Amino acid sequence: MDKKLFKPEILAPAGTFEKGKTAFLYGADAIYAAGPYWSLRQGAGNFSMNELETIIKYAHQNSKKVYVTVNSYFTSSDLKELPIYLKDLNSLNVDGVIFSDPSLYLIYEKLGLNFDLHLSTQSSLLNIEAAKFWKDRGVTRVVPGRELSIEEAGEIKKTVDIEVEMFIHGAMCVSYSGKCLLSNFMVNRDSNRGGCAQSCRWRYKVYDENGDVLNDGYPLNSKDLTGINLIDSYFEHQIDSLKIEGRMKSLFYIARIVSFYKKAIDSFPNKIDTSTLHYLSNREFTEGFLGGDIKDSIRFDSTKYNSIDLFLGVVIAKDNNRFLLSVKYGFNSFDPLYILLPDSNEIKIESIFFDSYGNTLTRINPNHVVFFESKIEIPHYSLMFLRKNSGD
Ligand code: SF4
Repeated sequence: MDKKLFKPEILAPAGTFEKGKTAFLYGADAIYAAGPYWSLRQGAGNFSMNELETIIKYAHQNSKKVYVTVNSYFTSSDLKELPIYLKDLNSLNVDGVIFSDPSLYLIYEKLGLNFDLHLSTQSSLLNIEAAKFWKDRGVTRVVPGRELSIEEAGEIKKTVDIEVEMFIHGAMCVSYSGKCLLSNFMVNRDSNRGGCAQSCRWRYKVYDENGDVLNDGYPLNSKDLTGINLIDSYFEHQIDSLKIEGRMKSLFYIARIVSFYKKAIDSFPNKIDTSTLHYLSNREFTEGFLGGDIKDSIRFDSTKYNSIDLFLGVVIAKDNNRFLLSVKYGFNSFDPLYILLPDSNEIKIESIFFDSYGNTLTRINPNHVVFFESKIEIPHYSLMFLRKNSGD
C-alpha cells in the first residue's frame, strides 16, 4: 500500500461508556473494552453486557469499532460457560474478540461465530511461523509480544499479510508478555485472572549475605512506554493498529493521549510538537523494545506518577453566550486554565465564572455545574484542565 494512503488505526482503552465515547470523539478509530468475564481485569473498568451493547451501537452509528478482551487462560471448568459468553458477544455484533487461549478459537470455529479474532499479546507471538499458523485458521489480527521491535512486527505483517497491532503508549510491566506470578506468590492475587497487585511497583531492599542493604528502591518499576517519536517507523512498516494502554485511566488522559497520536498520524510525514506529552500522568518514558534493544527503562527512585496537567471538567452545553461546565475537580478562576478541543487542539482561556444565579465565582467547587464566557466557540465534550507550573 502507498505509504501516503496508509493510516494506522488508533485503538484506545475504555473502562466506561463515557470513556469510550470520549475516545471516539477525540479521534480513536476503535476501542477495546473488558466484558464481565475473563478479561484480565477484576472489578472496576469492566462493562456489563448491557453496557457493551450500548457502546457497540454507539460505535457503529459513528463508523467506529469495539473489540472485547477475553484473553485469560481458561481452566477446564471455564470452558463450560465460555461458549455461552461468546455467543452473547456475537449477538451484540462486537467487531473483534481479543483472545489468548486456543480453546477459545476451537469454540469459535465450532459455533460458527462471525466476529474477528485478534490474538492477544498474552500469547507471546514473536515469529512469522506462529503468525502464519493463526492466519491459516482465520485469525484477522495478531498483537505480538511487547518484546518485538516495530521492524520485527513489520516483517510479520509483510510476510504473512495479517493485521498487526502494537502497544504504542502507556504503563508497561516487566513480565514476559504478561505472564507473571509475582502477585500470586506475594499476596495470593492471580495476575492471569485480573487480580495483579502490581508487586513490581513495590519498594524492595536487597540484602547481601551479611544482612547489609545493597539496594533500596524500585528495581522492577518499568517506565511508561511511548512511541510518539516513532510514528515514521509505524508508517514505514505499515503497522495496522496502534494501541494505547489504560482502561483504568481517566477520561481526560484518554482524550489527551488519543489527541496526541491522532495529530501525529494526521500530520505525517511532518512532526508534531510533543513537548507537553509528559505533562500527562506518567512514570517517565521509555521506547521499550519498539526501536530494538531495551535500555534505561526502569525508574528506580520512585513509583509515583508525574502529572502537570490536571483535569477539571467537561463542557456540556451552551446557553446564549455562556458555556456550561460540569466540574469534576475544584479550582480557582485565576488558575492557568486550558481547554482541550475535540479537534486535538488546546487553547488557553481566561474567563469569569458564574453560578446559576449569575453571581461571579472565584472558587469553583467540584460536582457543580457552572457557567463561563468565551469568545471562541467551544464544542460540547471539550475538556477544561489546569496546567501546574511545569518548571520547563
Ligand atoms: S506484578 Fe507487575 S510485572 Fe507482574 S503482572 Fe503485575 S504489573 Fe506485570
